[in-house]
Amino acid sequence: MQKCNMQSIVKFIKQTFKTDGFVALHEPKFIGNEKKYLNECIDSTFVSSVGKYVDEFERNLAKITGSKYAVATVNGTSALHVALKLMGVGVGDEVITQPLTFIATCNAISYLGARPVFIDVDLETLGMSDVALSEFLEQNCVVKDEKCFNKTTNKQIKACVPMHTFGHPCKIDKIAGICQNWHISLVEDAAESLGSFYKGKHTGTFGKISAFSFNGNKIVTSGGGGAIVTDDEELAKRAKSITTTAKVPHPYEYVHNEVGFNYRMPNLNAALLVAQLENLDKFLASKRELAGIYSEFFANLGIRFITEPSEAKSNYWLNAIFLDDLSDRNELLEFLSTNGVMSRPIWRLMNELEMFQNCQSGDLKNAKFLEQRVINLPSSVRL
Ligand SMILES: *Cc1c(COP(=O)(O)O)cnc(C)c1O
Repeated sequence: MQKCNMQSIVKFIKQTFKTDGFVALHEPKFIGNEKKYLNECIDSTFVSSVGKYVDEFERNLAKITGSKYAVATVNGTSALHVALKLMGVGVGDEVITQPLTFIATCNAISYLGARPVFIDVDLETLGMSDVALSEFLEQNCVVKDEKCFNKTTNKQIKACVPMHTFGHPCKIDKIAGICQNWHISLVEDAAESLGSFYKGKHTGTFGKISAFSFNGNKIVTSGGGGAIVTDDEELAKRAKSITTTAKVPHPYEYVHNEVGFNYRMPNLNAALLVAQLENLDKFLASKRELAGIYSEFFANLGIRFITEPSEAKSNYWLNAIFLDDLSDRNELLEFLSTNGVMSRPIWRLMNELEMFQNCQSGDLKNAKFLEQRVINLPSSVRL
């Protein structure tokens, strides 16, 4: 890339974030009731996994996503882990996902003794391609007794975990339809997509169950945190029980009816999150405005800025651009880094990591193409 173009990108980003100093990739913004609610927690002594903010957060998230239930967890990874477990994923099973995702998706699958199968992504959405999913299933799988089997491995494919990359919804209605036809449970990794909608419906509500994250770099944060979202009362009850050590409610006896997890979000974290959610609409508006500013700037430079897919409303969690090739990408990453602007390449493909390199994959040409060309740019809320 031409030096003058790289210089103008740095100048533009610093101007946009009104600083001469360092620009982070994504900083949390605490401009509301965060301190007030945290103090209330401390004053009340309810700082741990029981408390009014946990309940309040769960009600608020259910309302925002338009689903019936939300169950708060310690992080997004644990939410995915439990969601997959509740879909019956266990040792020896296979779970379809995309190679272009954060490691948490594949970790959660692995915690259950299952193995990921990698399906290519769509060039428009950066999320799982419905076409590649269909092709893979047609070529490799068969349904017997309402179960989907992989003919190459003779293993059952229990679940499919598409991910809404950088907050841009994937073609989730089509993917949901395919999963239904093939008797595969759909578990959306909606960790990055709070506030993102597809055809008017919130991401994470297209299958039976989904997972969100509220890590420090997400659009709103609880410090660390996550949630399971579902419309199914029985699943919600099971999720709540299994994330709180599967303790049978009783005034004093300790009885646990299965091996559970200590995955419940503490009230302190929920207090922070309740305050953050009060500003979600403002954050979303600010992010949309920033995406517009970037989009116009990069159009003038002839660089493709990634915009929300058709029929989708994205939260624009992380802004991203496409560069010409790997050397162009690396040159710009290096220049931004030495000039105090934080950027990062899209993830290394999961199937290239040591732990997953023997996993089965479809043709991953789009994922490989994107891996070499996409970088993220500073995307903090500007308020
Ligand atoms: C953030 C994230 C998660 C969950 O991460 P935690 O840090 O455990 O909250 C899962 N999947 C994706 C794609 C993510 O970006």
